Amino acid sequence: MTERKGITVFYDERVLKHFPDVNSAFLPGRLDKRIRTILSGLNVQWKYPEHPGRIEAILNLLEQEPIAGLAFAPGQAATREQLARVHTMSFLDDIFSLRDESAWLDVDTTAVSPGSVEAAEVAAGTAIAAVEAVMAGQTESAFAVVRPPGHHAEPARARGFCLFNNVAVAAAHAQAALGCERVMILDWDVHHGNGTQDIFWADPDVMFIDLHRAAPFYPGTGSLPEVGAGRGEGTTVNVPLPGGAGDVAYFKAMQEIVVPAADFFKPDLILVSAGFDAHWFDLAMNVSYEGFAAMTSVLQAVARKHCHGRLVCVLEGGYNTESLARGVHSVLEVLAGGSVPEPRVCGIEEVEAAVEYHRGAFIDDNPV
Ligand SMILES: [Zn+2]
Repeated sequence: MTERKGITVFYDERVLKHFPDVNSAFLPGRLDKRIRTILSGLNVQWKYPEHPGRIEAILNLLEQEPIAGLAFAPGQAATREQLARVHTMSFLDDIFSLRDESAWLDVDTTAVSPGSVEAAEVAAGTAIAAVEAVMAGQTESAFAVVRPPGHHAEPARARGFCLFNNVAVAAAHAQAALGCERVMILDWDVHHGNGTQDIFWADPDVMFIDLHRAAPFYPGTGSLPEVGAGRGEGTTVNVPLPGGAGDVAYFKAMQEIVVPAADFFKPDLILVSAGFDAHWFDLAMNVSYEGFAAMTSVLQAVARKHCHGRLVCVLEGGYNTESLARGVHSVLEVLAGGSVPEPRVCGIEEVEAAVEYHRGAFIDDNPV
């Protein structure tokens, strides 16, 4: 088999049409009243953090600092049948009934605006497009730059900024339509991917591994004993971490959990719920750009060992636009064949420079 090369970014501008504005008129109801009460009690004005500027920041940085060999491809909208592999029909009917409306879906800040339902269909469909291209050998790896994110969306519930579970829709499509027998999903978003875990809880053919900040951090799930059930017992793997964990902890989890798990499971395809809110700018964890690059490099090696390098990243969270854009860039650089920078403890380089700078200051030139 010829070696498949390259990394392709999948993007469709319709994902920008999801734009909930908390000041616009939402469908009136009990949930709206409850959220208004919460918002009015805050002492800072709250803005919807999952906004189109996140994607614009990623694209702007790729334009300012292009990556050699990076290809771009368009996305597509997921069909109802594709979404129904992981969501209930009644949930889909409910979401589709909100087309062109503004409404709250959940108290933990999931809202829709006119355009949101289409954006969500396109987010899931673009993840599918990325998987199809990788499975067809058109590109070795792919990155679906999409929103709204997906990993908190459950079979019958939108929550945590997520409407449809994009990575789950993509995994289910790979199994149902593309001949994949075993799919591995690694979720490194700082929040636990409760929705993805739910969807594949009893599925022995999807291995779900999640590195996240431990409860009570949102959404509060993802403890060690949550390992799946029935025939899927053992194919859910949670790695809860304390707040402030950084590159060394994440890299150890990759080496000592993800690598042996993949050797055991032998996936046909690896998907990544790629959130960037574990970067220290988002204030929950201490992962650096080099840390994201190092994790990508491990995954790429695992994918090359087991499944011809087939690796698809699907964007999840990351709310500081600078670290989100730079984080995505560092992952793409590795997938494009760039060198992998070595993670360092933040500040050590600067202290070393300061030691050098001040070296002469404490030497007495005129000893008595
Ligand atoms: Zn997150």
